[in-house]
Amino acid sequence: MADGRYAAGIAAGRLDSAQYAENFSDLHPPFDQHEALVEADRCYFCYDAPCMQACPTSIDIPLFIRQIATGNPLGSAKTIFDQNILGGMCARVCPTETLCEEACVREAAEGKPVQIGRLQRYATDTAMARGRQFYERAAPTGKRIAVVGAGPAGLACSHRLSMHGHEVTIFEAKPKAGGLNEYGIAAYKTPDGFAQAEVDYILSIGGITIENGKALGRDFALADLTANYDAVFLGAGLAGVNALRAQGEDAAGVENAVDFIATLRQADDLSKLPVGRNVIVIGGGMTAIDAAIQSKLLGAEQVTICYRRGREHMNASEYEQELAAANGVVIRHWLQPRRVIVENGKAVGLELEYTALRDGRLVGTGEAVTLEADQIFKAIGQSFDPVPLNGSGNAIEMEAGRIRVDAEGRTSLPKVWAGGDCVLGGDDLTVSAVAQGRDAAESIHRTLVG
Ligand SMILES: Cc1cc2nc3c(=O)[nH]c(=O)nc-3n(C[C@H](O)[C@H](O)[C@H](O)COP(=O)(O)OP(=O)(O)OC[C@H]3O[C@@H](n4cnc5c(N)ncnc54)[C@H](O)[C@@H]3O)c2cc1C
Ligand code: SF4
Repeated sequence: MADGRYAAGIAAGRLDSAQYAENFSDLHPPFDQHEALVEADRCYFCYDAPCMQACPTSIDIPLFIRQIATGNPLGSAKTIFDQNILGGMCARVCPTETLCEEACVREAAEGKPVQIGRLQRYATDTAMARGRQFYERAAPTGKRIAVVGAGPAGLACSHRLSMHGHEVTIFEAKPKAGGLNEYGIAAYKTPDGFAQAEVDYILSIGGITIENGKALGRDFALADLTANYDAVFLGAGLAGVNALRAQGEDAAGVENAVDFIATLRQADDLSKLPVGRNVIVIGGGMTAIDAAIQSKLLGAEQVTICYRRGREHMNASEYEQELAAANGVVIRHWLQPRRVIVENGKAVGLELEYTALRDGRLVGTGEAVTLEADQIFKAIGQSFDPVPLNGSGNAIEMEAGRIRVDAEGRTSLPKVWAGGDCVLGGDDLTVSAVAQGRDAAESIHRTLVG
């Protein structure tokens, strides 16, 4: 351990370079061929496959596992990509413990599910490493579709539209494509530039142009798109961040967790990325867990997640909570922030109030505790920013702060579909965004050529 590793304040270079590399290496290293065959052999190939029903993209899981077992990983990859063209990323980031693997009969029988996620990764990695493409574009339809946002929803939608012979232009506000795959997912879940490699793999089908640095609401209006394209798909995710509404929130050292994670994901050299000695993360979801674990991996001495409700109410899965604990993160429940303690403009602590449920309502008990902190991350949820939807008047119906869509992803505005995190009713997962993008593309295709 280097001297001064735990120096007070926010500082870079708390670890030596080998330690950074080790800390941010692959969370679940890939299977080699032998391991994949052994694991595939554990599958019962259930005829009613509950795992498949639990997958938001309905991948034929017993079939792809059988293809691995019979030495056909490329066929297996095609089975996966037929349903989910971002199957490589989903294999890495899906909370399988609450989806397919939770439903696996071997989980119910012996508490040890077939490792579906790692098998999926084995198959998709094999195809991508060999540059194997499975899809050709249909004859050109002459239809042009605009997609807003190059996240999982926009990419899945674009790929399916391109397969059907349509021309797609994606307008993406950020300099890189990938959405939260590129800027949000924890670094140890998708190391080695996989997000970019997957974008390249998807785009290689052709017929898709990405215009980076072009933002809806800033560079063009929705009305421009509906006037110039045959259809529009909105996959803009959640660009807004909820405010803490605690005194001192603007002090130096208080930051949105998503911004911290985006900076970390784009950092070329993690030893130059500053982190606090005592870090507090406020929130109870995946973003809170990811910010906390990555702070610890960057060398913070103490990292504490403060959540205003109990363990059972946290959005982060039990597995994610255990991962945090295994990395030395302390999770404290029933605490809500009251005020950031500021000295010379910098955060030095956080005063929190204990909470309790009374008659089903969350209330502060009046009892307070103060924790030392030189860095405080806010991870209390993202929100949809409706402002860029200008030009559509009030025509796009919203509900609970998100875009309302029907079962096919159609918004209330003619020619406009939407999917992913920005629509109401999703579960804010990569795999669900992919499913919604893909299904909206099928609906657009039916409408345009049907
Ligand atoms: C920190 C964090 C960690 C996560 N970890 C996981 C995980 O481990 N597993 C998992 O399944 N899910 C995870 N999620 C959720 C998952 O990343 C999202 O559900 C998924 O990315 C949603 O895809 P999307 O395409 O709807 O939106 P996004 O991925 O947000 O993509 C939207 C895109 O639209 C662009 N955009 C926004 N506004 C405009 C505009 N006005 N004009 C043009 N472009 C615009 C954005 O720049 C972005 O590229 C995580 C989320 C966060 C925040
Ligand atoms: S539930 Fe489990 S054992 Fe059955 S098909 Fe799915 S992965 Fe195989």
